[in-house]
Amino acid sequence: MKVLVLNSGSSSQKCRLYQVAPGAPLDPPPALWRAEIEWAATDSSASLRIENASGVRYNERIEAKTRAAAVERMLRGLWEGAAPAVRAPSEIQAVGHRIVHGGAEFRAPALIDERVLQAIARHAEIAPLHNRSEIEGVRLVEKFIGAVPQVAVFDTAFHRTLPRPATVYPGPYAWLDEGIERYGFHGINHRYCAERAERMLGKNSADLRVVTCHLGNGCSLAAVHGGHSVDTTMGFTPLEGLMMGTRSGSVDPGILIHLARKHGYTPDDLDRILNRESGLLGLSGVSSDLREVLAAARQGHSRAQLAFDVFLHRLRAGIGWMLASLGGLDALVFTAGIGENSSDVRAGACEPFAFLGLRLDPVKNADPAGDADIAMADSSIRVLVIRAQEDWAIARECRRLLESSAG
Ligand code: AMP
Repeated sequence: MKVLVLNSGSSSQKCRLYQVAPGAPLDPPPALWRAEIEWAATDSSASLRIENASGVRYNERIEAKTRAAAVERMLRGLWEGAAPAVRAPSEIQAVGHRIVHGGAEFRAPALIDERVLQAIARHAEIAPLHNRSEIEGVRLVEKFIGAVPQVAVFDTAFHRTLPRPATVYPGPYAWLDEGIERYGFHGINHRYCAERAERMLGKNSADLRVVTCHLGNGCSLAAVHGGHSVDTTMGFTPLEGLMMGTRSGSVDPGILIHLARKHGYTPDDLDRILNRESGLLGLSGVSSDLREVLAAARQGHSRAQLAFDVFLHRLRAGIGWMLASLGGLDALVFTAGIGENSSDVRAGACEPFAFLGLRLDPVKNADPAGDADIAMADSSIRVLVIRAQEDWAIARECRRLLESSAG
């Protein structure tokens, strides 16, 4: 089955086409086609990059007044232009969409119909940038690809198994009636990594206790027991928890009250400060990219060093939190841009847990090849590096849902 995946971010739009075999195996095959749009920060231009399975590459700078116009251009590249993948749109048999916020009602992927779209639109109040562009993506597929089954795969769904004490905020009880509770995010990749860890360790998932560390531009941890998420660091929004590239993560809410009173900050000001001007960028003043922060720290830049130290401190504290929710640990998994590539972060994150018998192999940590176990043979806890495969995970979920609804 040819499954197209749409994955929209705040400033980018990724798209992949996969051939998904029956049973939707865990191992990702190479994509048949990949495309990415990146919007310029300063004007309405965007860059479109396309590559098909024959390795034909196509780059275009597009003047796109609207997001929809750019996405249309990208979709047409599937069957038109220099690097197509199919002869006609009708060859695409299903489309999967990453939906950031599924609220309380979606515990699993859902076949998209008007009712599902309305529910996604309701959650746009909490995740406005994402959910609206995701709905737009569904409409554009309807328009340009036609009547193909479309599936919503939610970033929040994996965490719907969190026990009540982990989801309820200790504010007024009325918050619960307003849907103010902890949802958690990055669930598509946390779930994929937990499944992959189970496969790599050859263990029965019913007993397996794993902490998955998704460390990219956004960072979150999940505590996974028996294949179910039992705790996670992100909450009502993707702002809670760990320090991130430009997001603060958790801060004392009293700071916000203080700032609002002292400087008259509006909700939009606080949104900008906490989501875009904090984290690695805010503290270091150098960059939101950990590579640049680390390079500056090595040159003696004290604010960059401080940013790295705080990042690590909060990551370690977060792992400790997840450990308490699991009551034990079989494997610690590192994934996404930082988790996969930064040996400094992995070593720093593991260090305080040596007292549990966790022993990282420094040679394997320095250069893990693909998905790898980088713990010493006698370590009481395995340490795994697992490449994030979010788009493949969405394609699998899509095929699984369509197979189960057909069968
Ligand atoms: P992602 O959101 O998963 O694409 O991750 C992107 C982030 O990964 C970048 O902003 C970098 O901070 C980080 N990253 C990528 N490569 C490295 C590396 N070699 N060392 C440290 N951080 C890295």
